[in-house]
Amino acid sequence: MSFNGYFFEENKITDPEVFKAIKNELARQQNQIELIASENFASREVMAAQGCIMTNKYAEGYPGKRYYGGCSFMDIVENIAIERVCKLFNCKFANVQPHSGAQANLSVFYALMSPGDVFLGMGLDMGGHLTHGAAPTISGRWFRPISYGVGADGLIDYDNVQKLAQEHKPKIILAGASSYSRKIDFKRFREIADSVGAYLFVDIAHYAGLVVAGLYPSPIDYAHVVSSTTHKTLRGPRGGIVLTNSEAIAKKINSAVFPGVQGGPQMHSIAAKAVAFGEALRPEFKEYAKKVLENSIAMAERLQEHGLDLVSGKTECHMSVVDLTKLSINGKIAETELEEAGITCNKNTIPFDKLPPTQTSGIRIGAAAMTTRNLGTSEFKKIADMMYSVLSNYGKSGYNKLKSEVRADALELCKAYPLYK
Ligand SMILES: *Cc1c(COP(=O)(O)O)cnc(C)c1O
Repeated sequence: MSFNGYFFEENKITDPEVFKAIKNELARQQNQIELIASENFASREVMAAQGCIMTNKYAEGYPGKRYYGGCSFMDIVENIAIERVCKLFNCKFANVQPHSGAQANLSVFYALMSPGDVFLGMGLDMGGHLTHGAAPTISGRWFRPISYGVGADGLIDYDNVQKLAQEHKPKIILAGASSYSRKIDFKRFREIADSVGAYLFVDIAHYAGLVVAGLYPSPIDYAHVVSSTTHKTLRGPRGGIVLTNSEAIAKKINSAVFPGVQGGPQMHSIAAKAVAFGEALRPEFKEYAKKVLENSIAMAERLQEHGLDLVSGKTECHMSVVDLTKLSINGKIAETELEEAGITCNKNTIPFDKLPPTQTSGIRIGAAAMTTRNLGTSEFKKIADMMYSVLSNYGKSGYNKLKSEVRADALELCKAYPLYK
């Protein structure tokens, strides 16, 4: 096995079981068309920082105010990460310690609400995230979530959000989604929040990379507080961030992240975040984000040319939700069949889905990862053709042969656009 001397040296591996799985996962990533909308491929430099010796250091607290000695270099990387992310999103304060998007969101809840408080969030079945009030999560169990959603046109029903806000007087109105392909009107959300004295909290976990490139609306000027992941369209290490322009909220967020919901920060991840934010500040990242959007639109429109429906009718970001109700295949089977054909995506509920979440009537697709591998619009159209061919021929005669042809095409595309070579 060769990792080109980069990830690790083969002759130093003393744990062959784990490293065999890593090697196989590398091959899977290299040989599969990755359309999972929340995934991306971090750069070698990001991974080098994330795999570095900073994993050894405890640095509870914040730069200049640590609970341990020996933190001078921790302060340097954390300050770099903070400065860069503030520049990226044009905001005044940032917390770069959340271990993940869910931890970032929990910190915001912990900072601004008490158990039992009411908040508004987009329903999971409507495109929202689990942490926006779904029953099995802390957000759903320790607070009182009121869900809003989309209308029959697939667009957020802002009038209904206003009505629910008036009726329930929430502490927080949470905007943001995991499977919503349209621009969100953050100004409108702020007006609604102001009309009932609620905080506006916006979670841009999915859209962050497009936001920094100016291709998706920035919530910074409207929201009291913003959270994001760093590993989706932002293309950094797995992790979370919280941003705000209010010093008072920033203070609350800092105490909520540590010691509120986390212990020691993962300093290797913070170093990797700093590297990723540096990458995102470069002009090349804007070019990348522009291509993500072009590719996402090209793939979505090609599926529509084949007669497939998209939830809300189009995409204005890196992802689309494809409605499969016209076809004789559900989301779960589509996910499995496409994977066998060399294309990875995930089943996804569509608004007003008649099937249970274990089956679903949709799939979600995204362009962020394969754009990192330099595929362009013609390749994304080809991927759409390949997907359509699997989805529309499922169960028909000659299907297995067709599926293996698509698998061969997928492999060829992957070889033409190598990853980590
Ligand atoms: C992915 C996502 C999260 C959670 O991020 P994790 O890092 O998986 O915890 C939170 N909010 C939204 C909207 C997301 O899409």
